[in-house]
Amino acid sequence: MNFDFTLKSKILAYHQFSAKNEFTKHLKLIKNRTDVLITVDDGDLSFYENAFPLLRKYNIPSILFIIPSLIETDKPFWWDEYEYYSEKQGDKNELNWLKSIPNIERLSFLETLKQNSSKPIYKKKQLRVDQLLEMQDNGVIIANHSYSHPMFDQCTEDELREELSKTKDFFDRNNLNGFDIFAYPNGNYNDQAESILKEFGIKYAFLFDHKINGENHNPLRISRLSVNDSTPMAKFKFILSGWHSKLLPLIKAGHKLLN
Ligand SMILES: [Zn+2]
Repeated sequence: MNFDFTLKSKILAYHQFSAKNEFTKHLKLIKNRTDVLITVDDGDLSFYENAFPLLRKYNIPSILFIIPSLIETDKPFWWDEYEYYSEKQGDKNELNWLKSIPNIERLSFLETLKQNSSKPIYKKKQLRVDQLLEMQDNGVIIANHSYSHPMFDQCTEDELREELSKTKDFFDRNNLNGFDIFAYPNGNYNDQAESILKEFGIKYAFLFDHKINGENHNPLRISRLSVNDSTPMAKFKFILSGWHSKLLPLIKAGHKLLN
């Protein structure tokens, strides 16, 4: 990949795209700016359906971080599965707790949740390899979001190596070329994870920290700004200006003081 992502100071991180969205407006603003890059996490099918046609129309490059264990399946994302099977639907505290425990415990918690549920099996259509290749041929870099989306700061070295080697196999087997461009699931990282990324030849690693990048930033710790397809233009411009990142910690601290 002959593209230096460290030259981009503002890197947007999207997830899903509904049919009716503000994305066209975002793209019109971004189109002539060289300091902005679009990235999308998780490889949701809605990216292919609702965002890719627009990126293609405006000829804007992007990076799609995929989860190979889900491609060509009807398996949902694990956090959606949690929400579906959990008694405490929509409980962000429990979901956050789940992201903070050792990986093997998270997996067994989810498995128990599924087995104890009387609900029908939850299915979700995921992207296919031919769609990935079509996008790769039309300006989308298909990149690495790990094999099964565990929290990298909660994995053992063996688990991390397995995540990366299975992903490498998948990328090689299907002629996808962005294995060495990585986004940490949920943005969680630590030194152990970073050294194993290096071992696997990862050149760029993206965080999810809602920050703008300074000059000469570390290519293995690239900051990103959190946006979504319905972010109104006024807020979108505010986020791109960098002020939202600066004010957000103050707003959060204010909330804590008030509550
Ligand atoms: Zn993700």
